[in-house]
Amino acid sequence: MNFDTANQILKENMALPDAKFGQNFLCDDIITNRIVELAGLKNGDNVLEIGPGIGAITRPISNLDVNLKCVEIDRRLVDILRDSDIDAEIISADYLKLRDCGAEKIDVVVSNLPYYIMTDIMKKIFSECTNSRTLVFMVEQAALERILAIPETKQYGPLSVLCSLYGDVKKEFVVPFSAFIPMPHTTSCVISLRRTSGRIDSGFEGFVEKCFMMRRKRLMKNLADYDRTEVLEAFSKLDIDINCRAEELKPEQFLSLYELLNNLVLND
Ligand code: SAM
Repeated sequence: MNFDTANQILKENMALPDAKFGQNFLCDDIITNRIVELAGLKNGDNVLEIGPGIGAITRPISNLDVNLKCVEIDRRLVDILRDSDIDAEIISADYLKLRDCGAEKIDVVVSNLPYYIMTDIMKKIFSECTNSRTLVFMVEQAALERILAIPETKQYGPLSVLCSLYGDVKKEFVVPFSAFIPMPHTTSCVISLRRTSGRIDSGFEGFVEKCFMMRRKRLMKNLADYDRTEVLEAFSKLDIDINCRAEELKPEQFLSLYELLNNLVLND
């Protein structure tokens, strides 16, 4: 979708971009084609797009031989998409409140993320799209620091742990401001995440969140819901210091701890 087409659709439908929904619509075919290419779609894939907007990424994906589901919060845009010739299922909903959209069957997720809820959307995808193989997101450049953060740094947190355990995370390219209507206030870039790990249990996201709940406190304290003896045993098995804080643990240690405390064996 180029600038003129995007502008025309918005004007014809009197749909001014709404900042409260983080609306910065893509209007550059080169960028949207690169995003679709990065998704590496195969025939028959189940694809989820969060926040399709007026269809800049939706349309080229729907032209492929895939099953595309889109979730859009803005009713005006839902109507525009449903009235268009785009071949996709358009779900009118707040993605964060959506239950059961067949997430376990999703192979690939693509989204020019609404930045105001970027982290929450990503966490929900990690906990629900447990069989996905590729995620392609447009994110704020500033968020990349949290996504790629390593242990013992200020930016390290649940999002870094979840991204790292998903697989290879790559910053693909920076997107020029001119590729959006309206232009965003911050620099945006496209990232890809390709799964290298096995399936991660849907409860894991909540567990990591719990571990970081009180960041400055000892991890032991954040795990007060668990039996103390079992936590101590697990720490000892994994060689985790009793006084350590969550930010000192490597992503793999969170996973091993989760498995031990919940009697699970993942990723075998
Ligand atoms: N994909 C389009 C594009 O690239 O041009 C639009 C991207 S725009 C940055 C973010 C989109 O997410 C908007 O269409 C917005 O209405 C939608 N959105 C915002 N919050 C949402 C939510 N909670 N659930 C579903 N969609 C949401």
